Amino acid sequence: MADEKLPTRAEDFSEWYNQLVLKAQLADYAPVRGCMIVRPYGWALWENIQGALDRRFKATGHQNVAFPLFIPKSFIEKEKHHVEGFSPELAVVTIGGGEELAEPLVVRPTSETIIGHMWSKWIQSYRDLPVLMNQWNSVVRWELRTKLFLRTLEFYWQEGHTAHATRDEAVEETRQMLDAYADFAINDAAIPVIPGAKSDAEKFAGADVTYSIEAMMGDGKALQAGTSHFLGQNFAQAFDVKYLDQNGAQQYCWTTSWGLSTRFIGAIIMVHGDDQGLLLPPKLAPTQVVIVPIFKTDEEKADVLKTAKELKAQLVKANLRVTLDEREGFSPGWKFNDWEMRGVPVRVELGPKDVTKQAVVLARRDKPGKEGKVSAPLADLACTIEKLLADIHQSMFDKALTFRRSKTLEAQTYDEFKKAVETGFAYSYWCGNGTCEEKIKEETRATMRCIPLDQTAVLGHPASATARTCVYCGQPAKERAIFARAY
Ligand SMILES: [Zn+2]
Repeated sequence: MADEKLPTRAEDFSEWYNQLVLKAQLADYAPVRGCMIVRPYGWALWENIQGALDRRFKATGHQNVAFPLFIPKSFIEKEKHHVEGFSPELAVVTIGGGEELAEPLVVRPTSETIIGHMWSKWIQSYRDLPVLMNQWNSVVRWELRTKLFLRTLEFYWQEGHTAHATRDEAVEETRQMLDAYADFAINDAAIPVIPGAKSDAEKFAGADVTYSIEAMMGDGKALQAGTSHFLGQNFAQAFDVKYLDQNGAQQYCWTTSWGLSTRFIGAIIMVHGDDQGLLLPPKLAPTQVVIVPIFKTDEEKADVLKTAKELKAQLVKANLRVTLDEREGFSPGWKFNDWEMRGVPVRVELGPKDVTKQAVVLARRDKPGKEGKVSAPLADLACTIEKLLADIHQSMFDKALTFRRSKTLEAQTYDEFKKAVETGFAYSYWCGNGTCEEKIKEETRATMRCIPLDQTAVLGHPASATARTCVYCGQPAKERAIFARAY
């Protein structure tokens, strides 16, 4: 596998991505068009993502639940915007056990409706609130154009659902979970993200406000990496989710939902990957450290493998995720390339001379060649590697942020804008009018990604523009928005 070369990112970014996903054995195409099989290496990455998020969800008081895969079709039809948004993508089951079903069942595209239905039974009084739930599952949306991890008919994700007594509390929850996603992206995935609000055209079907975290991929396009929705009372009214307040009056609940999916793996690949292959963020990498033993004679082999096994045990004890590559029949050079392609952050090279010196060579994946190699004593190597991993995380984040900022232009004229979205983000004043947004999309294929909550953090400095006018129509504008072509 490692012998076939990937196309470079400059040659064909899309093909680089497709081939890398297969070659690194993250996922494969399923017999059903548009479905994917997540292979062990990809699933291990997803499990680490799950762990990192689940800790954050539990720390903020949420509990995991499991709702069924099937939803009565009539449920989807109860919330007007929801049905409009999801109808074209639904998979519907009409036959079960050989019999035509009395009511068709929808394979869940998301679970607001069935959860709303159950809440109407479970929630009676203000004492029952807030309800803070999350579920890890897969959902189905019948997409026409698919790409591994980025858009597949079935994908894995988590969906959080909460119900609150007041509007303020629900808004606060929506923002809290957006912050949790941003914190995860930055501190675990080394991906700089822009948290912001979506336009009406881009928001979730049935939401009052949708927030998202947006990231720039290695080709300058945007990817929505997680979303958090304030649903107002839309679903509570459609499903009669009410509670008796402290004064004995019936009130509708205020609800939220929020999700992050296996799409995020696509973001990790496209933000950090290079022409050699993957570069996985140390905190999420299934293997953080790979030990490659180097020897020629049987005597050397015995010595080197003995030390390698002791070293592995030392690193495992320090809670590092370690692989010792004992595969026969492959040269060390071949193994180096293979693990580089698979994005393992640190490689330990251990040969007979190193055993004598009680030292190893550490090679970091983010700095190819001699520049990224250091010799380190075997004693206390776990501690040395932990520091190295932290340093790699920081370098990866800094590099991605510098790249994003260099490809984000403060376009003030429409000509500048059109140029900016050819290669990256346009960060421009926008009047907020949906007509301008629609025209921009038609003419440039760029969509409104988000209105950043922190307008200064995008570029690290305040707006250079003196005129606060919409980049399209010239009308007065209050805020700047990110526009980009997107995945
Ligand atoms: Zn305008």
